[in-house]
Amino acid sequence: MPRHCRTPGCQEAAHGYSPFCENHKKTIRRHGAPTQQGVTVHELKPYVALVDARKAKNPDSEAWAILTARWETVLGHAQGVLQRHAEGRAGFRWERLAAHHLVTIGRDVEPWSVVKTAIAMYLMQDQRPTRFASDAAFDHQLVRRVRGLTDTNAGAYWDHQEQRSKRVYRDIPPRVIQAMAQPLKAAFGAPGLTLAAKEREEIDKANEERRRLANALEGLA
Ligand SMILES: [Zn+2]
Repeated sequence: MPRHCRTPGCQEAAHGYSPFCENHKKTIRRHGAPTQQGVTVHELKPYVALVDARKAKNPDSEAWAILTARWETVLGHAQGVLQRHAEGRAGFRWERLAAHHLVTIGRDVEPWSVVKTAIAMYLMQDQRPTRFASDAAFDHQLVRRVRGLTDTNAGAYWDHQEQRSKRVYRDIPPRVIQAMAQPLKAAFGAPGLTLAAKEREEIDKANEERRRLANALEGLA
């Protein structure tokens, strides 16, 4: 009896020793869960705009400088990992690869872009919780969108049908993705949740106002 892939609704045979079929195994590796689909730049855009709007509304808050400094700290740590490796000291390969990818992003991307992208992921998670299949899937998407800020991590090919150049992200091993997600979450997780709660408060307030207006209009003579 061939075993079936464990993904709900998938009729494919399980691949080798894996409980999943080949396709879903690939998806787990790439996205952190068999049913997770990649979060696109386009999807994240409105949440990035919310973060920018919050900053524009509070230009004098020191929050923005502190958040940017947190990213510099992440980069400083990553540079330290690479430095220790260059000096011939032992370390884990996945740790070195994660550090390399982070430093590349730091070199190519303006710090605020990284900050607002990471924070935006938490806003999206708060407002669209079902968009993320699991915590691991969220971590993968967080890293995916931050990596997506630089071309260095992507190869390009020409799509004849759409007549435009498309980027393909070279996959990096899940262990490396986790090692990249961890410092990003440590730096931006708590502030991301705080800002997400603030956005939700405003949505709730607006809904409440609409409800009261509707009731008041109903009650008009
Ligand atoms: Zn499957």
